[in-house]
Amino acid sequence: MLSGETEREPVRLPHHLDQVAAIRTPTRTEPWRVLVSGCLAGSPCGVDGTDYGLGATQPEWFRDPRVRCVSFCPEDHGLGTPRNMPDLHGGDGFAVLDKEAKVLDEHRTDITEALLAGAQAMLALAQRERIDFAVLTDRSGACGSQVISIGCRFEEPVDHRRGVGVATALLLRHGFDVVSQRDPKTLGLLGAKLDEKFAPDPEVVDHHESPWVLEHLPLDPK
Ligand code: SF4
Repeated sequence: MLSGETEREPVRLPHHLDQVAAIRTPTRTEPWRVLVSGCLAGSPCGVDGTDYGLGATQPEWFRDPRVRCVSFCPEDHGLGTPRNMPDLHGGDGFAVLDKEAKVLDEHRTDITEALLAGAQAMLALAQRERIDFAVLTDRSGACGSQVISIGCRFEEPVDHRRGVGVATALLLRHGFDVVSQRDPKTLGLLGAKLDEKFAPDPEVVDHHESPWVLEHLPLDPK
């Protein structure tokens, strides 16, 4: 465990919907302060210098005047853009924090310290801004919060697992709530807190409830 970490249980909002109800209602004078993955905010900070098309998919309520988004890319901070592909090896983001796993690129270069530096910088921003919660891009070895992959993702078969990336693990260890862009049920419940007329679609499910995850990744370790 890194210095200064707390013992608070991780809180991924889709897995703890009671925490959504507990999140304060924002106002124009006290807007939500939401930490958003840089690519999800539309920044061209992906490994290939694009936003992966995610900027066009962000929830409408990001633009509500009672919401203030602050965006950050931990991999860009640690490695720059464009960059090689950072992949988890030997465990998830928590295991990396505990020095039981590493982050390597596709050439097997150890970039663990760069990912940890990016995660620490993201945490510092979250603490400075006193964020209410974070909306992070899933699948990333840094920002993932539902599904990650272990090993080089350019080599088939890709070993998908349920789990979190390095930056997400650090945010969770410090008590910050996290949701991914693949969790429309939770994002809808958050949107409903801003607009009482908004009726979340009862049919939508979060990523850990999706048929693909239930078929391929049946066991949730957390
Ligand atoms: S590290 Fe996070 S913010 Fe940066 S490109 Fe990957 S998912 Fe997006």
